[in-house]
Amino acid sequence: AAVRQVRFVKGAVSMDTLPEPLGAEVAFVGRSNVGKSSLVNMICNRKALAYVSGRPGKTQQFNYFLVNERSPETQFYLVDLPGVGYAKVPIPVKEEWLRFMRQYLKHRTSLRIVFHLIDGRHGALADDEQLMQEIAGYGKGLQYVLVLTKMDKADKQRAKRSVMDKTRAALVRNGCSPDIPIVLTSASSRLGRDDMWRHMQGALRS
Ligand code: GDP
Repeated sequence: AAVRQVRFVKGAVSMDTLPEPLGAEVAFVGRSNVGKSSLVNMICNRKALAYVSGRPGKTQQFNYFLVNERSPETQFYLVDLPGVGYAKVPIPVKEEWLRFMRQYLKHRTSLRIVFHLIDGRHGALADDEQLMQEIAGYGKGLQYVLVLTKMDKADKQRAKRSVMDKTRAALVRNGCSPDIPIVLTSASSRLGRDDMWRHMQGALRS
């Protein structure tokens, strides 16, 4: 599994500003500071994906990256979803984000898989549980994978088990299947890279 080229395409702010669907797309979502940029860079073997739009707006947009555009059989969109719904933002902004997120989950038929990132040191917080609830409602073709980040910080086997158990309980409590995969990752040690690719490729082929 390799990313040969990756190019920032656009930042979308509403359903009608999304790019025309390609074959398939994969999405990453999580609270700000969860380690999303670091994980996406690790997966893509990049130091940093270039956001042409510049840093400030980045966190409020659905950021579309086109991966492997020179080989149509392996190309796909990687979508970096904003953490805005999680930050300390005014309620109307949060509501707007949730509305866009719901529409996106419901209507974006090219979306194959959602990776929901949760900081492995804290486990799921209230906003994460709300997102679990949202996603539980979209059973159909959509695959959902829970990703625990920064697991290099949880060195003890017991700590790993405990955060996995808690995350699994949160999923079930919010209406998700107990079979949803939970992947342990670390951008610094590259833990979980193969698992992430396995899930992405499985979803892109489906
Ligand atoms: P984002 O806001 O979700 O995109 O998060 P970033 O990728 O910018 O990371 C937020 C902070 O967490 C930064 O200080 C990173 O250095 C740190 N971080 C990210 N991934 C890891 C990881 O795997 N392990 C550790 N220990 N720290 C990480």
